[in-house]
Amino acid sequence: MQISLKETAAELKAKQRIVITAHVNPDGDAIGSSLGLAHALRALGKDVQVFIDDDIPAAFSVLPGYELIGKPVDGQNIPADLLVAVDVSLDRIGRVAELCTAPVLNIDHHVTNDGQADKLYLDGKAAAAAEIIYQLIGELGVNGNRDMAMCLYMGLATDTGWFRFSNATPKTMLAAADLLAWGAEPNLISEALEQRPFAEVQSLAVGMQKIELLAGGRVAGACLDYATMQEYDAPEGLIGMVRVIEGVDIAFTLKEKEPNLCRVSLRSKGLDVTKIALQFGGGGHVRAAGCTIEKNCAEARTDLINAIMQVLEAES
Ligand code: AMP
Ligand code: MN
Ligand code: MN
Repeated sequence: MQISLKETAAELKAKQRIVITAHVNPDGDAIGSSLGLAHALRALGKDVQVFIDDDIPAAFSVLPGYELIGKPVDGQNIPADLLVAVDVSLDRIGRVAELCTAPVLNIDHHVTNDGQADKLYLDGKAAAAAEIIYQLIGELGVNGNRDMAMCLYMGLATDTGWFRFSNATPKTMLAAADLLAWGAEPNLISEALEQRPFAEVQSLAVGMQKIELLAGGRVAGACLDYATMQEYDAPEGLIGMVRVIEGVDIAFTLKEKEPNLCRVSLRSKGLDVTKIALQFGGGGHVRAAGCTIEKNCAEARTDLINAIMQVLEAES
């Protein structure tokens, strides 16, 4: 059932033991909005725990509360009055879905949200889940502080490509300005995320060598098979390099992270890439989406390119 922001605030106020989670393979918004909400609810005197079913990259240790993020273990019972899932649909929260059986409040900005939660606050126009959490903090009547600000700024900045993408609206910028007033230090956040291991920077060159141009230059992508992924640290920034190629509308990367398991990232400058991601059970936003294809790199590449071509043809 979809609910309003006011009802979301009321639901949180009514519950005491609250567990917050976000998607596996967590990004700056998943981690930042989880921790930002946790700080706000603690200010209200709630018992709050954050569980994410994945490893949290060390770069995020710049965020206050990073060390309190738990990773669930098999068989663990996670007691709670309410499970809050942010920046995600329930199919991507990993084992938290089985280990915490409390009613679920879902707060999300993905237009592809599957609506499976007991209660859902969805704002597809919000640039980041962090932008919703910022609005929610106002609705809860909590005074913002540096801890909340650092976490929420992380979410806003990473999901908007540092306020460069088309999802950044006046609301986003006003929220960011307010977060600075609360004490956020953007330089610390960007410095923490910029730092890359030497091997990863070098591996960017390997990934860039693999970029191929398709559809007369309207599509570009790089596929890294399992052997390549074993040899080099997969560069997170590769999709950004594909995206900047002149004339390219759809950019993709395909990384075989485990044998026969490929993680796909999709970006576009115009076309709706959720149409491609949804075909493989993934999702995301019009201009940034992702999915997983359970095939080897070569087979997954063929399927992905076919799906991309279909979308291109349908649009032309
Ligand atoms: P990424 O390429 O991993 O940065 O993801 C781009 C966007 O697509 C983000 O908003 C993700 O949350 C979303 N996304 C990525 N993978 C999936 C998936 N398997 N299912 C649903 N959404 C996804
Ligand atoms: Mn995310
Ligand atoms: Mn997000």
